[in-house]
Amino acid sequence: MTDAFIGLGSNLADPTAQLARAVTELATLPDTTLVAQSAFYSSHPVGPQDQPDFVNGAVWLRTRLRPLQLLDHLQAIERHHGRERKQHWGPRTLDLDLLIFGDHTINDERLTVPHPELPNRDFVLQPLLDLNADLTLPDGRTIARLRQQCPDNNLRPLPPLPREPFPPG
Ligand code: ATP
Ligand code: CA
Ligand code: CA
Repeated sequence: MTDAFIGLGSNLADPTAQLARAVTELATLPDTTLVAQSAFYSSHPVGPQDQPDFVNGAVWLRTRLRPLQLLDHLQAIERHHGRERKQHWGPRTLDLDLLIFGDHTINDERLTVPHPELPNRDFVLQPLLDLNADLTLPDGRTIARLRQQCPDNNLRPLPPLPREPFPPG
């Protein structure tokens, strides 16, 4: 089993609901369990500024999937949420990025892990810290230190979601 951390983002069509649904979908991936989910945050967009603020969060998964299998699942979930790729860093219903995959360093044409923009994004680093304050990258850099050095993106915590009741049984 490998610990995998996924970043979630949305700024279209009820972003908070998009993220909540995506967490449920990630939790039910094959050969995968959900360890924890972060709080959700609101942040200003990177890239084009003429788009709504984003809602961001992260989840901690434990999985037997291979990295590219996991990426296939992430992209399938994005498609189920009506994700369209129009403009680079433009508005989207759902973005799922594979941030960290155990201590793997991956440089595939489809997949770069750890996610290369991770050190520059407080809306990624803060949710990761929520999940695991001791988290480190394969090169030994700590997420806590990267968070201290990261530019500010006007990150604001959103109020916690009401908990779904557990199914009976
Ligand atoms: P950014 O990667 O800067 O956050 P983005 O999320 O808007 O930008 P996308 O359009 O969602 O970028 O993805 C473009 C491509 O990035 C995908 O087709 C995917 O193959 C590739 N990719 C490379 N590394 C990763 C990763 N760690 N997680 C998700 N996709 C990745
Ligand atoms: Ca992204
Ligand atoms: Ca992406």
